Amino acid sequence: MKSDVPAATLSIDLTALCDNWRLLCRQADGARCAAVVKADAYGLGAEPVAAALYAAGCRDFFVALVVEALALRPRLASDARLFVLHGALPGAEAECAAQALIPVLNSRDQVERWSRLARSRGTPLPAALQVDTGMARLGLAAAELDRVDAAALQGIEPALLMSHLASAEDPVDALNDLQLERFQAVRQRWPRLPCSLANSSGIFLGPRWHFDLLRPGAALYGVAPTLGRPNPMRPVVRLQGRLIQWREVAAGDGVGYNHAWRAASPGRIATVSVGYADGYLRSLSNRGHLRFQGQRVPLVGRVSMDTVTVDVSSVPADSLLPGAAFDLIDEAHDINALAAEAGTNAYEILTSLGSRYARTYIP
Ligand SMILES: *Cc1c(COP(=O)(O)O)cnc(C)c1O
Repeated sequence: MKSDVPAATLSIDLTALCDNWRLLCRQADGARCAAVVKADAYGLGAEPVAAALYAAGCRDFFVALVVEALALRPRLASDARLFVLHGALPGAEAECAAQALIPVLNSRDQVERWSRLARSRGTPLPAALQVDTGMARLGLAAAELDRVDAAALQGIEPALLMSHLASAEDPVDALNDLQLERFQAVRQRWPRLPCSLANSSGIFLGPRWHFDLLRPGAALYGVAPTLGRPNPMRPVVRLQGRLIQWREVAAGDGVGYNHAWRAASPGRIATVSVGYADGYLRSLSNRGHLRFQGQRVPLVGRVSMDTVTVDVSSVPADSLLPGAAFDLIDEAHDINALAAEAGTNAYEILTSLGSRYARTYIP
């Protein structure tokens, strides 16, 4: 049974999420705007996120894995398209077809298997074709394209031609132009196919990268799309932990594992109910900070599995009540700021958000 006194609460602002989606839509005249909801919508919950975005008008969704798609498909209306970025592993094709999933075909092998299934069923099956324009990760390599001709595509109803940018968050990286050029060249082979190149950051590179379908993930959830530029996205996530207990420490007292922090003067240490098992990264040890009633309080010592310790010497002792809320992520200290402190990117902050959090959705 779940206690109704959660140790930590992750609040997800669905209005901010949908505002972000609309802001991204507005960047492109005429292009459709999809939503990437892989990895459980970057840790925020694929079902509620997709439902809110569907209600806002989104009709195109992307996940990475067939299992993610199978979980989401029954929750989506039938006019929503659901693309599977990895395509189907051998043996998963029939289930994909039965559930009306649209695999992204990344290799000649995936094209062959999808075509074989379509021909055996005698009905055309939709698919997206992904080409590799320079990331060397997923997608048909340039050398493979000649072998993906009309014969190879027999039975397949191509729905989208796509590629993925490797450095879009850095607008001065020459790779953005190179990938665009290569994508435009590949497009000549299938001039009538709708095209998609831009992830969140790619949208902000400009209209030449937009084509027919935008594929943002991160920016929907508040990740800053462009390095060194103000973040136009609204924060979506708030994370609060709770005070378990606090204590007085004397000058010289060590705190937490290995005494990685020592009090320089007498003070107060609070223990808050979130740790690295919740995806609150251990690299934040002695580097991160939390906020208590709007006031910044430094994280001191190591992040433990289930707790962090915080220097609350500046906080009046009578406000330190057991159960009091501490903000680990809020508007003033968002996922982007936390990522900078942790030495990672905001994607990893989001996708690490723990399974122990009570997720509450603000409509
Ligand atoms: C994850 C992913 C996206 C979304 O990228 P963001 O940077 O989160 O916007 C788009 N396209 C592909 C192929 C992806 O793998």
